[in-house]
Amino acid sequence: MLQLEKYSIGVGDRFAHQAKAQLRACIDAAGRGIDVVPVWNKSFREHGIVGSRPESVRAAADRAVIELDWKRPYHVDADHINLDTVEGFIAASDFFTLDVASAIGQAVPAADIEAFLARHPELVGRIEVEGLSAPIASTPASVAATAAKYMFATAQAGRIYRLVHSRKAGAPFITEVSMDETDNPQTPPELLVILAAIADEGIPAQTIAPKFTGRFNKGVDFVGSPDGFEAEFNADIAVIAHAVKRYALPGNLKLSVHSGSDKFSIYAPIRRSLERTGAGVHLKTAGTTWLEELIGLAEAGGEGLALAKEVYAKAYADREALCAPYATVIDIDAAKLPPPDQVRMWTSDQYTGALRHDPACPLYNVHLRQLLHVGYKVAAKMGQRYLDMLNACEEAISRNVAENILERHILRVFPVRG
Ligand SMILES: [Zn+2]
Repeated sequence: MLQLEKYSIGVGDRFAHQAKAQLRACIDAAGRGIDVVPVWNKSFREHGIVGSRPESVRAAADRAVIELDWKRPYHVDADHINLDTVEGFIAASDFFTLDVASAIGQAVPAADIEAFLARHPELVGRIEVEGLSAPIASTPASVAATAAKYMFATAQAGRIYRLVHSRKAGAPFITEVSMDETDNPQTPPELLVILAAIADEGIPAQTIAPKFTGRFNKGVDFVGSPDGFEAEFNADIAVIAHAVKRYALPGNLKLSVHSGSDKFSIYAPIRRSLERTGAGVHLKTAGTTWLEELIGLAEAGGEGLALAKEVYAKAYADREALCAPYATVIDIDAAKLPPPDQVRMWTSDQYTGALRHDPACPLYNVHLRQLLHVGYKVAAKMGQRYLDMLNACEEAISRNVAENILERHILRVFPVRG
């Protein structure tokens, strides 16, 4: 088994041009006492929209690592794959995020649930979990209900894991199980049952991505109670530590926070939890880098700014279609979107002020930011013209990409080595 480091950051790079800038953020973080390894993740959906292949992610990562002489581990994540989509990722990836959210709630035979209960009498009653303020109290009926809800999903994770394992033919890889893209959060007591079922399937999961309470909208801050999140995050960490010992799961099993970019109000709670418990975390930040590309284009002025405005105008015109696949993870008030005619008159500062995630800036517009977040399809359609402009404005873009990952993410989330 390939072992994932304690602190890792998922860095998405829609157009495979920012791997160096993202890696430079990790290098600069090390210089400031924070050890975090990069994991380049891209989902089947993103590849489909951009028209890219998993090999391009691997190539960009390898090139950045050589050019910057990075000696620590790094990985390429087949993000949100399932039985139907994993095949194209096998060769290029050494990290597989098995997405079983859509399998939650699917029916399993009653005999399977009875067998699970018979296998796990320890899940019924008062369960003392170190780090929880009160024991978990469960009944045969409550454990059976949780098993009924999640066992099809954990069995599905087992099927995907075994397919990857056989296709990798002995090459080591990291396994994540994700259940985040669903409507209802998993509670810490449910997480314990899920982890027991994952262990039963023989899945050596090193990261688990539950759905947390609160809204994790794309590219913008967390919406919900940071205190509530902190309590839930701490409880999940305690449950994981308990399950690792009880079910012989990998000792480095940790939480993975999806849609993790730009969730500024929960970064301090996360860091406090990590410092207090010594737990690790994986933070996925896929879309934030694409927005920094737009900021860099706008900052460069001239043709770069013009292209950034064109992306906005097209995204605005096509907003309904662009937003549809992301309906559950964005909240856009169309009335608060500036009309493209107005944006066309903007200076570089007006564009970057509206887009950059600085809530204290009076120009910041959370609606425009979310629309552009889902608007990368517009840039993908521009094809080579967009990529040429990325190269032309490389200095401004890479500076913004690196600064965003380092200053607004790594330094806020991950504890300093100590
Ligand atoms: Zn996710």
